[in-house]
Amino acid sequence: MRKRSFFGLSKPSFHYELATDIAATPVAIPTPETVQIYIKQELTRSSKILKTGMSVKTGQRLQLNEGDSIGTISSVTGTIVSIEPFLADYGQTWTAITIETESSDIMDTEFADFIETPSLETLNRFFPTCPGEPDFQPLMDERNPVKTIVIYGGNADILIDTGLLVLKTKADAVNEGIEVLRKITGIEEVVIVVPEESVQNYSGHLDARIQSVSSQYPYAQPLMVLYNLTGRLPDENGAASLGTYFIRAEAVASIGEAFVTGRLPVNKTITVIDKQGNKHLACARIGTPVGKMLDTFGVEVNDQDKIIFGGPMTGNAIYSEDLPIGPDTDAIMVQDKAIIPLYSDYPCINCGDCVHICPANVPVNLIVRFLAAGQYTEGADMYDLYSCIECGLCSYVCSSRIPIYQYIKLAKYELGRITSAEEMNEQ
Ligand code: SF4
Ligand code: SF4
Repeated sequence: MRKRSFFGLSKPSFHYELATDIAATPVAIPTPETVQIYIKQELTRSSKILKTGMSVKTGQRLQLNEGDSIGTISSVTGTIVSIEPFLADYGQTWTAITIETESSDIMDTEFADFIETPSLETLNRFFPTCPGEPDFQPLMDERNPVKTIVIYGGNADILIDTGLLVLKTKADAVNEGIEVLRKITGIEEVVIVVPEESVQNYSGHLDARIQSVSSQYPYAQPLMVLYNLTGRLPDENGAASLGTYFIRAEAVASIGEAFVTGRLPVNKTITVIDKQGNKHLACARIGTPVGKMLDTFGVEVNDQDKIIFGGPMTGNAIYSEDLPIGPDTDAIMVQDKAIIPLYSDYPCINCGDCVHICPANVPVNLIVRFLAAGQYTEGADMYDLYSCIECGLCSYVCSSRIPIYQYIKLAKYELGRITSAEEMNEQ
C-alpha cells in the first residue's frame, strides 16, 4: 500500500499487507480442463518414461528418464496430451507437460510409503514442486552447514496476502512441517519471520521463535530478513553461505500436510490483484491457466494490458493468459495499459533518485552502466552487486525508466550460473 507521494521531500513509503487485513476465505477454483506443469530439465530426446496418452494420478511423481533426480508432481488425474520443450525466464530450458484432466481424482500412493521414515532424500524427491516450491539443495550441501531454519511468513512484495494467509489458516500444518524438518535435519533453531503488526496473530500458535520485521517495504524482503538476522548478505551461494536455510511458510505447510495425510498437496494459494488494485484470494491446482483464474474474478485483459506474476515491485510480466500458475506463484496482478510504466532505452541522466531510495546503499547509477552492457563480473566486483536486496525500488523511481531491477536479477542469475559451472569443472 502506497502511503506517500514520490514527489515530496521524503522517500516514498510502502507497507506490506498485514494479517489483520486478511478477511476473505480463498475461493476454490474448479479443476480446469487442462493443466500444464514443468520439469526443470531440458527435453533433449523423447522421454523413456512419459508418453502422450499415458494416464497419471493426482500426486504422482513424473520424471523424464530412469535415474533422474529432477521431476514434478502431477496436480490432477488425467491423460498426458503433450510433452514439449519450454523456454523459461533467463533462457532456461524446461519441459512442459500438458495433462487433460478427469472429473474425479485418483490419488497416487507412492509417497505414503515414505511417511514413517522421513528423510532429506524423500523431501528432495517429492516436494520441490509442491506449493511454496522449497529448494532442499542448501540442506544437502555439506560445505555450508545449516544452523538455523528461517520460515518466511511474509510476502515478497506489497499487495500480496498469500504468505500471511497460509500462516493464519494452516498453523497446524506449519507446526507439523516444522516437526518433520527438525526430525530430518536435527536443527532445533527455527525462526518464523512476519511483519511486526502481525506478530500477535501468530505468537503462541506456532512452534518456533517468531521474529518480527518492520512492515514497511522492503524490510520483509527475504534478503533484508537475512541481513537483519545475520548481519550479512549471502553471496552467489545463497542463504546457505550464512548458515541459514530459507523456506516459505506455504512449503512448510505442504510438508506438514503431506506427512499427516500421506497425500502430496497440489493446490496453490494465490492473491489475484485486479486493475483497480482490489485483491481476491484463490486456491487452485498447480498448472491452472492464468486466464481461468482471472475469469473467476471477472478480470478482463485487453490489448496491451500487463499480466504480472508477483507484485508491483518485483513481479515478472508474462506474455499469455494460457501460461499456468506454478508452485511459487504467490500473486497474479493485472495492470491497465493506461497506467503501465513503460521501460525505455533512454540513458541514465544521473538524477540520483535510485541512489537516494536504495535501502542497501548500492551506487545504482554506476552499477547500472556495467549491467546494461552485460559486464556483470565488473559490476559485481566494483560496485558490490550482492549488497542489493532485490526490492525493485530503484526501477520504480528511475527518471529514465531503465529496467534496473531486471538488469540486477539477470546479472545475479548469470554470475550464479558461471559459479556453478566452475564448481562442476573443479569436481
Ligand atoms: S539496487 Fe535497487 S533493487 Fe537493489 S536494493 Fe537498491 S533499490 Fe533495491
Ligand atoms: S534513477 Fe535512473 S536516471 Fe536517475 S541516476 Fe538512477 S539510473 Fe540514472
